[in-house]
Amino acid sequence: MTSVTCRCDTVIEVDVPELANLDSDRNILSALLDGSFLSSICPRCGVAVRPEIALRITWPSKGLDAQVLPELERLSVYRDKAAIPSGCEALVGYPELFERVRMLRDDLDPKAVEILKYYLSEKALEAELDSEAAILYNGLESDKLVFHVLGLKAEQTGVVRLPVESYRKALTGFKETSSKKPFIQVFKGPYKSVKKLGFLADDTEDDR
Ligand SMILES: [Zn+2]
Repeated sequence: MTSVTCRCDTVIEVDVPELANLDSDRNILSALLDGSFLSSICPRCGVAVRPEIALRITWPSKGLDAQVLPELERLSVYRDKAAIPSGCEALVGYPELFERVRMLRDDLDPKAVEILKYYLSEKALEAELDSEAAILYNGLESDKLVFHVLGLKAEQTGVVRLPVESYRKALTGFKETSSKKPFIQVFKGPYKSVKKLGFLADDTEDDR
């Protein structure tokens, strides 16, 4: 059992699995898909709370073997200092875990989707949105890939839809695209996410 402390100081015990195989743990799979995974309601104030996670999630039939790390370890992951078993991919925090499971449910290649997310985040910056905006894949909707854009000004969630055709182009051109900047960095190491690009850019400036 892991304890999690609510904002109201109530301590709640949550049973966190160390390892889950989504081919056999179907209850965990459905909880990941509906977003209820490890969420508990605080008996005192009614707020939903979640423990920090460190667990390994595999989904052999979809080719997933990932070490999921808490958001607190994001910087260690960027600096290659987090404990990630060899051969594992890294995912940081619940939103990335939920997103990955949705991509695999829809039989999408996560790396091709990551390329689309890069272009969407570039557009978000052009539109002068918050540079901390996070773009997460949410699902398929009549031949469109639906993305949620979080962290906009005024705390709104934006919704962007891209045609499946854009995804197919990203998939077909993957070999070429991934050999170019900035994608060489995106797909290097166990954490393959466009989210680290901002950090890497800042870090290079610090070194000067
Ligand atoms: Zn509470």
